[in-house]
This record gives sequence, structure tokens and C-alpha cells, in this order.
Amino acid sequence: MKDLRDFPKVSLGIFPTPIQRLDNISRILGTNVWVKRDDMTGIGLGGNKIRKLEFLLADAIGQGAELVFTTGGAQSNHAMLTAASAAKLGLKAILILKKRGVTDVAGNIFLEKLMGTDVRFMDTDDYADIYAEMDRIAEETGLKAYKIPMGGSNALGTLGYVSCAEEISKQGIRFDHIVCAEGSGGTMAGMALGAKLFMPEAKVHGMMVDATDFVPVTLSLMREAAALLEAGVDITEKDFDLRPVWGEGYAIPSPEGNAAVSLMASKEGLFLDPVYTGKAFGGLIAMAKEGAFRPEDNVLFLHSGGAGGLFAVH
Ligand SMILES: *Cc1c(COP(=O)(O)O)cnc(C)c1O
Repeated sequence: MKDLRDFPKVSLGIFPTPIQRLDNISRILGTNVWVKRDDMTGIGLGGNKIRKLEFLLADAIGQGAELVFTTGGAQSNHAMLTAASAAKLGLKAILILKKRGVTDVAGNIFLEKLMGTDVRFMDTDDYADIYAEMDRIAEETGLKAYKIPMGGSNALGTLGYVSCAEEISKQGIRFDHIVCAEGSGGTMAGMALGAKLFMPEAKVHGMMVDATDFVPVTLSLMREAAALLEAGVDITEKDFDLRPVWGEGYAIPSPEGNAAVSLMASKEGLFLDPVYTGKAFGGLIAMAKEGAFRPEDNVLFLHSGGAGGLFAVH
């Protein structure tokens, strides 16, 4: 198997991110709940996309790109962090965002305004239209362009979370369960592949914040990332567990998600977001109530960021 360090990476974040025990919430839920602070990845307001961007932007630079495109919903944390990272690396970024959800100058759009990011909205639900528009703009500018998919979720981006799992395996605590949000798939797929390789005793649970069928998405991202790594492992549906937490739909706050945001804020002084981490932590609370965790278990929640959305989506 290849070493993760064999893949070119730009240094953007501050790693390893800390792992902390949530003493009050552990008492309330009757198990040992820990948090992996990937909301502290060191760029923008932090978040999971930085680990993916370290690989993706190294690839962009390796290909001689001068212009980076990405896309997502109007309040995409990924798009905002791509713009912030590109700015730091001296690359031009253009964000083509779906004109869906909160498009006011609030949350991530406000942060993009502060950075002077070139943000364009497209009134479409079809990402194919958006990628075609990127090609059109690239031709118009004459710059060598690099397209990062929605959420940075391709095989290379997925390596970001394989590498997070490797990092966790060296932080000194043996985890029985790892819980994270699943939005475009790369984070959970990387974590599940990384757990299989570096922490086989940990079961990975993906909390689906979008009503997409994530089984095929996860399987193909895990298999493609495993192929990049020449890991020689068989990937099956048994390598992860998926649970629906989207409520009424992507980026629509849910009562369970909002309750989780409040619990984490009031008991631990940590801020989750209503789109991803609040709903995902709501899923962890539901599992605890169903008796999925033993009192002696160590349960790790991935805090994947999302602070920008907290100030826009209510
Ligand atoms: C993008 C995002 C996720 C989901 O990660 P994916 O790799 O897209 O599944 C989770 N939390 C936050 C805060 C995000 O911005």
C-alpha cells in the first residue's frame, strides 16, 4: 500500500486537530463522548473541507492551474473555504453557487464578500449546468482552470479523511464508534476507509443530511480512494453504517438538529451548525437513546465545522 505522504499536499491547516472529552454530554448520554475538533483546521472558520483541499489544491497547482472553480449550495462551507484557501495560495477562485437557500449577504456569503471572492449564482438544480458554465468561463478568461467538485468529494479529496483517520489512530484513545455528517460523501467515505485501514475496531456511522442514496456514493468513493492508495482491500456495505437525519431536507433545520445545537452550546460551549453537525450530533443522541453505545464505549464525534452557516440558516 502507498503511504498517504506519497501524495502531494499543500499545507493549509493546523494538524493534528485536538480530541476532547465532552464531560457533561457524556454524563447525560451515559457513554464516553469525545469530539474531534476539525472545526479548528486553521483557515476561515475551520471545517472538514481543508483536509480535502490540501490534496485537491496541490493537484491543481501540480497541473499548472491559475483559476480554481467550485460549487455548492448558496451557503456552502466548502465553497467559502475553497475561496479562502485559494486566496492564501495566490490562485484565483470563482464560485458558481446554486441559487437555492439563503442567498443574502449573510453567513458564508458575507465572508466571501470580505475576501472579495468572485461569486456567481445559477438558478439550476443540475450540477451538469454548473460544470458546463465553468468550462465556458474558463475559455472566456483564457486561464488554466481546475474544477473542484461539489464538497471536494472525489477520490483525491476523500484521502483527506483517510488521513484524518490515520491521525486519530495516533492520538492515544481507542474508539468504538465514530460519528460524522454525510453531505457529499467524501468525509464519511474517507473516515470509513481510514478506519478500516488504521482503526479496524471502530465502527463508522454516517449521518445523512441530504436525502440522496449514499450507499453507492460511499462505496464508489471508498473504492476509488482505496485504488489510489493501492490498499488492496475489499470494500462492502459492512464497512459503514448510514442513518437518515435530513428531516425535511438538505439545509432545512430540524427539531432534533436544533436541540443538538442547543445542547452542545449550553453544556459544552461548542457551536454546531444547523445544516450538518447539528443534525449529525442529533443522530448521535438518537443512537445513545436507542442503546447503541455501551457505558464503557468511546464514541468520537467529528466536528466538521460549519460556523458560517450558523449565522445564515435558522
Ligand atoms: C461539507 C460538510 C460536511 C459533509 O462533508 P462531506 O464530505 O460533504 O460529506 C459536514 N460538515 C460540514 C460543516 C460541512 O461543511
